[in-house]
Amino acid sequence: MTNAVIIVAAGRGQRAGGGLPKQWRPLGAKRVIDHTLDAFRRAGLGPIIVVLHPDDFDLMQDSDVICVPGGSTRDASVRNGLEALLPHHPTKVLIHDAARPLVDGPLIDRVLAALDHADGAAPALAVTDALWHGQQDRVTGTQDREGLFRAQTPQGFRFDAILAAHRRHTGTAADDVAVARAAGIDVTIVPGAEDNLKITTADDFGRANDKLTQKLGQNMDIRTGNGFDVHRFGEGDHVILCGVKIPHSRGLQGHSDADVGMHTITDAIYGGLARGDIGQHFPPSDPQWKGAASEIFLAHACNLAREMGFTITHADVTLICEFPKVGPHAPAMRTEMARIMGIDVDRMSVKATTSERLGFTGRGEGIAALATVTLVKS
Ligand code: MG
Repeated sequence: MTNAVIIVAAGRGQRAGGGLPKQWRPLGAKRVIDHTLDAFRRAGLGPIIVVLHPDDFDLMQDSDVICVPGGSTRDASVRNGLEALLPHHPTKVLIHDAARPLVDGPLIDRVLAALDHADGAAPALAVTDALWHGQQDRVTGTQDREGLFRAQTPQGFRFDAILAAHRRHTGTAADDVAVARAAGIDVTIVPGAEDNLKITTADDFGRANDKLTQKLGQNMDIRTGNGFDVHRFGEGDHVILCGVKIPHSRGLQGHSDADVGMHTITDAIYGGLARGDIGQHFPPSDPQWKGAASEIFLAHACNLAREMGFTITHADVTLICEFPKVGPHAPAMRTEMARIMGIDVDRMSVKATTSERLGFTGRGEGIAALATVTLVKS
């Protein structure tokens, strides 16, 4: 079943100021229309039709969007969008104003779900303020608010029904619900959302910005994981640290290649994800990991992060030893670790310190490592 969306963005409304129609103005890090489009992308709708003023085609370059020229009225614009959808045979279509950028997934889902049992469904909020009639700054009467609603979008319809309604419609209409009702389509009211405000004035930009910041804060999932590991020195002529082979008079002991730096970062990632540690995922008792390249462990942790929706935005490891000297190899270590983790080398830090000849690292009995990793849900 295909559920399409038409974003109506052909308006020239400049009451919000800024010299550009409001849908093209910035709101936070993106333009108003980009927030709107992303909401429907996240909800999995497609095809996505954007109805544009013919002068604005250069402003919309997104490859997943079908751009359609608007008409002289809102109805004509929507009809152009519906006709453009015909070859895609959608089952349901949602029609939404570009200037409502804070529409969210649950609201979209409510409209779609209502269309399982109705030809039309639209979100609205009951009027709670008292209503007056007024003229020239004077109250001339009161209006019973019982049964009154504030209409929002997206307004949703069975595609065949709303296309037929628009084709038959003459004159102008306030919205698509008016067009649908003129054609005898029953429209179900689903609960709207106070946040789903329509940007009209300059004040609305401020309110939308506040709500956006609030939402970003609620959705933000930033995690910090830490790791610690030690491997003892034994026989050998080299060590492998953060994926780089360094000649040395001794080697590091361990079941795998004993890359203490890589193990520490791997554990920090598992820690940030709250998914155990390297020993749980790759038990030392399992002979298949004997002499294994530690890249396998790190790649596993990175894949797990990706599967859980996290991006690794930063990793910092400190190697603690008197010898070998790490400094000359740090650039190669950063490059190798960044490659395996699929992050920019600027986000990968490798540092080293001695322990002033104190303790087991000071006596040259082994190498210890500490790591911190930052993960952000994207
Ligand atoms: Mg280890």
